[in-house]
This record gives sequence, C-alpha cells and structure tokens, in this order.
Amino acid sequence: MQKTERIFDNTEIAFSLKNDSELERAYFLFKMISIEPLVKIGTAATNFAIKAKLPIEGLIRSTVFDHFCGGVNEDDCLPVIDKMFSKGVSSVLDYSVEGKDIEDEFDTAVKKVLKIIDFAKNIDAIPIAVFKPTGFGRLSLYEKVGAGENLSEKEQLEWAKVVERYDTVCSKAKENDVAVLIDAEESWMQDAADDLVTKMMKKYNTEKPIVFNTLQMYRHDRLDFLKKEHKRAIKENYFLGYKLVRGAYMEKENERAEDLGYKSPICESKLATDENFNSGLQYIIDNLERISVFAGTHNEESSYLLMELMDKKGLKNNDSRIWFGQLYGMSDHISFNLANKGYNVAKYMPFGPVKDVMPYLIRRAEENTSVAGQTGRELALLSKEKQRRKTL
Ligand SMILES: Cc1cc2nc3c(=O)[nH]c(=O)nc-3n(C[C@H](O)[C@H](O)[C@H](O)COP(=O)(O)OP(=O)(O)OC[C@H]3O[C@@H](n4cnc5c(N)ncnc54)[C@H](O)[C@@H]3O)c2cc1C
Repeated sequence: MQKTERIFDNTEIAFSLKNDSELERAYFLFKMISIEPLVKIGTAATNFAIKAKLPIEGLIRSTVFDHFCGGVNEDDCLPVIDKMFSKGVSSVLDYSVEGKDIEDEFDTAVKKVLKIIDFAKNIDAIPIAVFKPTGFGRLSLYEKVGAGENLSEKEQLEWAKVVERYDTVCSKAKENDVAVLIDAEESWMQDAADDLVTKMMKKYNTEKPIVFNTLQMYRHDRLDFLKKEHKRAIKENYFLGYKLVRGAYMEKENERAEDLGYKSPICESKLATDENFNSGLQYIIDNLERISVFAGTHNEESSYLLMELMDKKGLKNNDSRIWFGQLYGMSDHISFNLANKGYNVAKYMPFGPVKDVMPYLIRRAEENTSVAGQTGRELALLSKEKQRRKTL
C-alpha cells in the first residue's frame, strides 16, 4: 500500500532546509541534551544567571533558543515560517511566555493571539492560531471554578474577564475563518477550561470547527469525555475540533495524586496511553462529519496509523478536517516527509523574549532527556543525513 510506506526514514527530505553547519549545530545540541547531568546543571545555572541578570541571553539565543523557537516576536518568525512553507509545512505561532499571573500579561497574550489571527487571515503559511488557558487567567482561579467553589466578588469579576478573553479570541477566529487551538494543562484546572471551551464551540462552531479543545490521551477518562461531547454536539447541533496529544504533565499529575491520596488520572502504562491515543484517532476518523482533528504527536506509529485510517476511508491526504502537528525543532522527519506526501502538517513555533520562554525551553530539554528514545532517534537521523551528504 502506497500511503503507509515507511516514509519517515527519508532524511534527505527531513533535513532539506538545513545546510551542513545547521545540521552540525542540531547534532551538537541534541548530543548535549542527551546528557542528563548536563541538562540538570545547565538548567540550574541558567535559572541562576537569569535571576542574577548575568548577560547570558546571547548564549541561550544561539543554542537552544534558535533551535526550538522562531524568534523573540512574531515578525522575527516570518522568514522561518516562509522557509518551512516552501516545503509544505505550515506554522502555528505560539506565544510562549509562561507563568506570569498578572492581568496585564493576560491582556498582552490576548493581543498577541488576535494579531496572529490577523496574520492567519492573510498568510497561507499560518493557518491556525493557539493559546494556553493559563495564558488568559490564573491557574488557581480555574481550579476554584472547576471545583464549584464559591468565588469572592473580586474573583467573579476576574473570571468574567477570563470568559471575555476567550470570547474575544474565538469570535475573531470565527470572523477571520481561522481555527484556534486551545491547549490543555494540569487536570486540576482543566474542568473549568473544558466547560468554557465547550461554550465557545457551541457558539462559534455552528458551521464548522473553528474552536478546538485539547484531549490529553494519557488521561484514562478522555475517550469517554470525547464520546460524551460528541453526543452533546449532535443533540445541540454544533461541530467539534480536537487536538489530540498524549500529555506533558505526567510526573506532576502522578505526584499530586499520590500526595493528596486520589487515583491518578493518568493511564496505568505507556501502552495504555498509546492505545487510548490511537482509539481517539480511530473514533474521530469514524465521525469526521462532525469532528476534526489536529494530531499533535512525535510518535511515528500513531502518525502511520492516522495515515492508514485515512487511506482505509479513501480520504485525500490533504483532507481539510485532518492535521498532523509537531513542535518546531523536533521530529522534522515526521513533519517534512508528511508534507512531501501532501498531508496537512503544522509545527508549533514558540516565540517570545528569551528569558520569558525559558520555562518552555527547559521543558523541551528535560523532555528530550527523559523521553526514552526521542533524543537517540534525533541523533540517529541527523547522523544518517550527515553520512548521506558525505557520500554525495
Ligand atoms: C503540536 C503539539 C501540541 C501539543 N500541545 C499540548 C497540550 O496542549 N497539552 C499537553 O499536555 N501537551 C501538549 N503537547 C505535548 C505532548 O503531550 C507531548 O509532546 C507528548 O506527550 C509526547 O508524546 P508523543 O505523542 O510525541 O509520543 P511518545 O513520545 O510516544 O509518548 C510519550 C508520552 O507518553 C505518555 N507516557 C509515557 N510514559 C507513560 C507511562 N508510564 N504511563 C502512561 N503514559 C505514559 C506521556 O504523555 C509521555 O509524554 C503537544 C505536542 C505537540 C507536538
């Protein structure tokens, strides 16, 4: 069968945008990241240096930052976005400033997303926008709302502002006909975000999916959640959009559940998460007339599975209801080979001031150190390409 041939091994296509020195830099970076003690020491030293206001921005910028981020602002990212789009890979500009619990910052984040939705209307290479729930409001406020606790008058006003921020962005997305993905975070804040996103879907997904929620399939309750939301959408006649991911907060989730003595929301094994993720894909592909999907994954088998499910249904590779997504700086072998076969592919491209995107960068470094095989896989692919170029 043509479509499910093992296309991800093609390193010439995967790294077609990298010249020899960029290839060397990527190899060196992943080599460093693969050394766990180095990442631990590097993280501590970087945090210290930033707090002490030492001039290390240049160093961060020329190493991890440039590899995992598009730039310090959205305009900075445009040349990179154009370059990727020349190979068919789209971008999702992700304003990645994290952990700033102040109202002004939430309003800045809204402005950024609105600007990106305007970009998306005019630039084909940017088809989709994104935001994080905690970019628009305090985590502990979501937590309180989700738990049904009484809010003080001040908190009620604060929550009304969060709702307004979602509405401003989703209504603009609808007006510009641009899909907007809403990330998922810790389970203890997610109920309130889910309720809010469902309201937005009901209001704005009347003709097609514009607002997309995220399902973290490492949670054992998410397949049931998907089925329930599907029933509701049929009954109340609106469309659903879901970004499917495995989930990025596993250690935190398990630790909290143990500390507070409740059953962890996380699947009991990696295999169970994989099965849950793949069942989610299957369910959506079986119900595409109402649900669209953005598969955010670096897992080759899940990506091949989605290609196979599309093939079995006789769908076109570029069916507008299906997107594949990876993070900028990771798994180019999946993104570029999918794009080469005409699939819809977008990479999350983080941007923001260097010191403010540090939490994001540290997560990427730690993920690449801890996710078994991921860094090894990047190194093996880069090495194979270096070798291939030598024999030309
Ligand atoms: C475009 C994009 C958008 C993303 N958006 C979000 C988001 O909104 N929210 C979010 O949380 N994450 C998000 N992520 C991050 C994503 O969750 C991680 O990249 C993902 O978990 C890595 O999994 P993978 O599908 O690439 O596959 P793999 O590397 O095969 O899977 C690793 C994942 O499996 C799960 N896992 C590992 N061990 C176990 C175990 N013992 N038991 C149970 N489960 C286990 C964990 O989720 C782990 O991260 C996004 C990723 C991408 C590419």
